[in-house]
Amino acid sequence: MKLHIDTPLVESRALSLHSGRSVWLKLDALQPPGSFKIRGVGHACTEYARRGARRFVSSSGGNAGLAVAYAGRKLGLPVTVVVPQTTSNRAKELLQLENAEIIVHGASWQEANALAVSLVGATDAFLHPFDDPLLWQGHASLIDEVAQSGLKPDAVVLSVGGGGLLSGVAEGLHRNGWNNVPIIAVETHGAASFHAAVHAGHAVQLEAINSVATSLGAKKVCDQAVHWSKTRLIDSVLVSDRSAVAACERFLDDHRLLVEPACGASLALAYEGAVQLEPFKTVLIVVCGGATATVDQIRQWSRELA
Ligand SMILES: *Cc1c(COP(=O)(O)O)cnc(C)c1O
Repeated sequence: MKLHIDTPLVESRALSLHSGRSVWLKLDALQPPGSFKIRGVGHACTEYARRGARRFVSSSGGNAGLAVAYAGRKLGLPVTVVVPQTTSNRAKELLQLENAEIIVHGASWQEANALAVSLVGATDAFLHPFDDPLLWQGHASLIDEVAQSGLKPDAVVLSVGGGGLLSGVAEGLHRNGWNNVPIIAVETHGAASFHAAVHAGHAVQLEAINSVATSLGAKKVCDQAVHWSKTRLIDSVLVSDRSAVAACERFLDDHRLLVEPACGASLALAYEGAVQLEPFKTVLIVVCGGATATVDQIRQWSRELA
């Protein structure tokens, strides 16, 4: 069963003018649970259900948890999400709307995740937010859709948290014969775990995350993302929180879509005419979306960072 939708692929006049090249947007902000995550999560949940899973367990209070909750409701299976005390009311509210059971536990994600893992029984499936080959296979569908549309971009811009989206897009480019299309991998300065891994040559654990782009806040990327960084062209780029939030505000005006700073980080590259885009005539930006930031929250960050 396919739980994600084929999303629109549109050329952005505003972003093309800002960056001086043709900018195409893959609008995964329009996925029913609000982000690209349902591609991989939907694929993984469907597969785990086929193998006999009777319940899904997640430890994400963000878009991954929302995607699991959505997938469970669609597949008719219960979902338990363990989230830390720091999880916003907005995120809990969204999980409730998907009928997920929410357990609030622990001061940080580590503790919530430990409890979630301990709850996983023989007939349950645990859904990792970014480190599972089934997720990458599912995320790769995003590139299949682009290939089917007939557009071949000269580069793909995407945001990196734990590296699941990166691994899926790299797999999608690979399976469509597009290994020569570079990926521009964007993080904020305070959540630069992929950047650190590329420089170290292996995944490294950041001491802390310090960014409003909470969906990019994985302290350590998956090994698969590091593997791709060694076997294909990936340019690791960092932007400020301020640029990411400003891009969210401009994108809301230009395209009437509210996205998280995690997604604004990628859009910022085009809005600011970043040098990293200069070699390319046609650029595809993965508009990964994100449902957890309200317009009030974006405006508050914007004031605080100004
Ligand atoms: C999860 C997420 C990311 C990062 O994806 P990873 O697979 O963790 O690298 C980026 N943007 C949004 C909106 C997300 O939800």
